[in-house]
Amino acid sequence: MSVIADKLKKIQDDIAKACARSGRSEKSIKVVVVTKTAALEAIQEVIRHGFVDLGENRVQHLKQVANDIQTFLTENQDDPSIPDKVCWHMIGHLQRNKVKQTLQICRMVQSVDTLRLAEELNTQSHKLGIHTDILLQINCSGEAQKYGAPVGAAVHLAEQFTTMGNLRLVGLMTMAPLTMDKNRVRASFARARDIFEEIRGESFAGAKFKHLSMGMSQDFQIAIEEGATMLRIGSAIF
Ligand SMILES: *Cc1c(COP(=O)(O)O)cnc(C)c1O
Repeated sequence: MSVIADKLKKIQDDIAKACARSGRSEKSIKVVVVTKTAALEAIQEVIRHGFVDLGENRVQHLKQVANDIQTFLTENQDDPSIPDKVCWHMIGHLQRNKVKQTLQICRMVQSVDTLRLAEELNTQSHKLGIHTDILLQINCSGEAQKYGAPVGAAVHLAEQFTTMGNLRLVGLMTMAPLTMDKNRVRASFARARDIFEEIRGESFAGAKFKHLSMGMSQDFQIAIEEGATMLRIGSAIF
């Protein structure tokens, strides 16, 4: 097996174990492969293994990689072992003047943490004639992180997002605090889960509000135990 195949196998095994520990189905977990540091050949191999959800945190790099991957898919469109298309997720802080370029590539924006950003996403989606899936990014770490809406603003922001006609609020995203302390990591994921459940119980949320994106290479097993439905994994693969 190649190094990448090996690592993908290990991650799938770890996901299976965490699911077993928490009585969850592996089918309830989606892996978004974060490509920001990866070589093109490595990304192509991941796609060959059937991973089609890809994440980037910088628009400039996103444009380049998405373009290269599109060329790869087009050149291999007759190869049944290679998927027809991939789905790009924006996972990093997004400036409003980069929204239009982002929407030309991404069907999902996970890092929506202000009303102003949501409004720009809605406006540009309307112009492009598309509907964009978004996640509300919240800051559950209790530290003064730069990005993510404060927990206390989450429900109200979520409600405002659902009034925007070209956006679909499909869940929440959060990042654990930068610490080796597993208890603090777990506590922040549990907090995100609580807010996720609270919003899900609101009448404005609806059935499409179902994704809880949390867990990266260092902490995805804890995230699964705390209810994540979407993991964002980069360095454990590349
Ligand atoms: C880089 C990044 C990831 C992936 O982190 P790894 O530790 O490489 O798995 C996940 N989410 C966001 C928002 C990132 O910027």
